[in-house]
Amino acid sequence: MLDTKRIAADVKRDIELWRVQGEDISGELLNFLLSKAIMRELIPLHEATVEKQRKVKNAYYFSAEYLMGRMIQNNLMNLGLHDELKEEMKAVGINLDQLEEVEDAGLGNGGLGRLAACFLDSGATLGLPLNGYGLRYRYGLFRQQFEDGFQKELADNWLKHPDPWSIRRDDRTCTVELEGKRVLAVPYDMPVIGYHNDTINSLRLWQCEAIEDFNFEKFNNYEYDEAVAEKNYAENITRVLYPNDSTDEGRSLRIKQEYFLSSASLQDIIRTHKENGRTMASFPTYNAIQLNDTHPVFSIPELTRILIDEEGVSFQNALDIVRKTFGYTNHTIMAEALEKWDAKLVKEIVPRVYEIIERIDQQLRKDLAAAGRGEEKIEEMAILRDKKVYMAHLAIYLSHSVNGVAKIHTEILKKRELSDWYALYPERFQNKTNGITQRRWLRLCNPHLSDYITKLLGDEGWVTDLDRLTELKQDAADPAVLAAFRDIKRINKQRLCDMIWEKEGVKLSPDFLFDIQVKRLHEYKRQFLNALAILDIYFCLKDGAITGFTPTVYFFGAKAAPGYDRAKAIIKFINEVAKRINNDPEMKDLLKVVFVTNYDVSYGERLFPAADVSEQISTAGTEASGTGNMKFMLNGAVTLGTYDGANVEIVEAAGMENNYIFGARVEELEALDHYDPVALYEGNVRIKRVVDTLIDGTFDDGDTGMFQELYDSLLKGASWHDPDQYKLLYDLPSYVAAKLKVNRDYADREKFSFKCWMNMASAGRFSSDRTIREYAKDIWDIAPVEE
Ligand SMILES: *Cc1c(COP(=O)(O)O)cnc(C)c1O
Repeated sequence: MLDTKRIAADVKRDIELWRVQGEDISGELLNFLLSKAIMRELIPLHEATVEKQRKVKNAYYFSAEYLMGRMIQNNLMNLGLHDELKEEMKAVGINLDQLEEVEDAGLGNGGLGRLAACFLDSGATLGLPLNGYGLRYRYGLFRQQFEDGFQKELADNWLKHPDPWSIRRDDRTCTVELEGKRVLAVPYDMPVIGYHNDTINSLRLWQCEAIEDFNFEKFNNYEYDEAVAEKNYAENITRVLYPNDSTDEGRSLRIKQEYFLSSASLQDIIRTHKENGRTMASFPTYNAIQLNDTHPVFSIPELTRILIDEEGVSFQNALDIVRKTFGYTNHTIMAEALEKWDAKLVKEIVPRVYEIIERIDQQLRKDLAAAGRGEEKIEEMAILRDKKVYMAHLAIYLSHSVNGVAKIHTEILKKRELSDWYALYPERFQNKTNGITQRRWLRLCNPHLSDYITKLLGDEGWVTDLDRLTELKQDAADPAVLAAFRDIKRINKQRLCDMIWEKEGVKLSPDFLFDIQVKRLHEYKRQFLNALAILDIYFCLKDGAITGFTPTVYFFGAKAAPGYDRAKAIIKFINEVAKRINNDPEMKDLLKVVFVTNYDVSYGERLFPAADVSEQISTAGTEASGTGNMKFMLNGAVTLGTYDGANVEIVEAAGMENNYIFGARVEELEALDHYDPVALYEGNVRIKRVVDTLIDGTFDDGDTGMFQELYDSLLKGASWHDPDQYKLLYDLPSYVAAKLKVNRDYADREKFSFKCWMNMASAGRFSSDRTIREYAKDIWDIAPVEE
């Protein structure tokens, strides 16, 4: 373990040096000094981990996104340094809470990127040889502001402060060829620290640079533009994270990013494999690679290319090695999110890889014919069709494992979206329900509840064995336990109120019910449905149709992809609803709506512990899993949700009776053949009343026409989708009823906290430790490295 005294002495000396120069010790500076001192101590531990991992099979997680959040506190916790350092720093007048100022590492969009971060934490904590590969974007996910209720995007300049957790590894640099030009891939390693063990795994992020950073000869000839063109070409490749949660915009640059990640990571793994004295025939014996969605799927033709062109392996043997190496995780059933790239673009950017893809496509077609598939079916399942490259088909064909991320999601893949593939390769399909790390999402973000759980269980074992929480179910019978739980929840709500006051300038009371929907803004996630329901409740409170309402704050937090106009319109609409309600004196002690700005991991760390109600209201069959739902559950909130994604497994674990499930199920929606939202609108005065606010002047969209467009999306549809494609109006009445039931039930605080407690105590199976153990055993065939 680390020498806390030495680290503390180092940091104290640095702090003195800065103070002598008259410098205040800001949170960012403290972060830098602490992190640097710790990093020095970590290097030998990391090298020891690498040494041990050389002897065994390793798994590599390939992901275009890692939503790490703030590193410092999590690392202090996992290293077991936090408490002692806090005391040491106090002695020199420094409060570690200052670290809350430190900016997040936000190199991901949402759930998929956060999942990757949770997986790495679990891998290191379990002592597994699991390391990550990704891209070191110069700008992460944009920072969100609101201007008159409209979303504005600002660049996330996360490297304006030094990044003390990364080490540049020039010794592991490689080159990648794109459009006939060579660029450098320079790795930056971040440590991934196991909880209270000696494992230091790594996340290797590639930065793209020009081979010649500065062409002096051209500069000398006054060819300034040319001198920088090469540099810009390279640097643009890892300049920015695409802020699209699911669609494929910025096509050419995105293809370059994906190929760059794939090529550099594979070169690195092959280099290590050979350094260990092994031949390519044993590659899959020692290396397993997991593809986090289709973003890194160019790895499949790239490894094939390397095997054929550089290693002299035959095409058939190459395919065999490739298939044994890769596993593919599917994260979505939204058709528009399945990546298909223009064949022409792929051919221009990576011509040789494109030839390999053509060859793979030919082989697939042969295999399909041999398996008795007809011409039409073959065309449907092909990798190359309509002048496009179907990345998911490439992934399924050359992976030995294909997994969905929740039971219902995997079943839908098998029955519907990928049914042809399931019929062909049933043995490849499996489920791996997502999880979250309880280290960050309970131990770190909810210290009061953590301490209380530890006290009840007698030890901290739950931090690495979340199933231990089931022992707490029996405590739900003890009114003193539930009272203590309510006290803790109130403290957490007050902490959130303080943050909201500071960041949003809105005063809130912790005595209100806290109902929270935080996640990326997407039509299928139905924040719009939530807003319509709140508006309905508001009107009913005003006209006296609802009485005995428990005072409630409805929270939203969500970023919309910058090019996703309808999502941005929904943000504006929610902000208008919030403004109306918050300014209505009659609602002062009854109802508030807050849209928090710039929802990210750190904001989440305040929101999840403070929630009474978790909103998980996607149209049944659209949310693959969700992980936000698990974070709320673990912190003791009830789920108000549809029977979708991991909600299904949450209520299976915690009991239907302790949650609020409403709305149409998948089968019911499938059986609807003539969905007519206009009839619902005409036939229900309350639906009509809320929908009409979009066009009757109740709300102002600043003459953008965006509210009319929202109205049309519900009742008229557009060329590319049916009216109300996510069935908001269909579910609205049962949703409002469920919302009001939660609200009534909350008034019986004793009974309601029982439900919350049962959810927390049932959250064990949603630990990412469980998920990663399953991947390790069923897909990667790796085991913890022996000490
Ligand atoms: C967990 C998390 C998500 C995923 O939320 P879902 O509700 O599962 O979509 C997105 N963003 C952040 C910052 C998260 O922490």
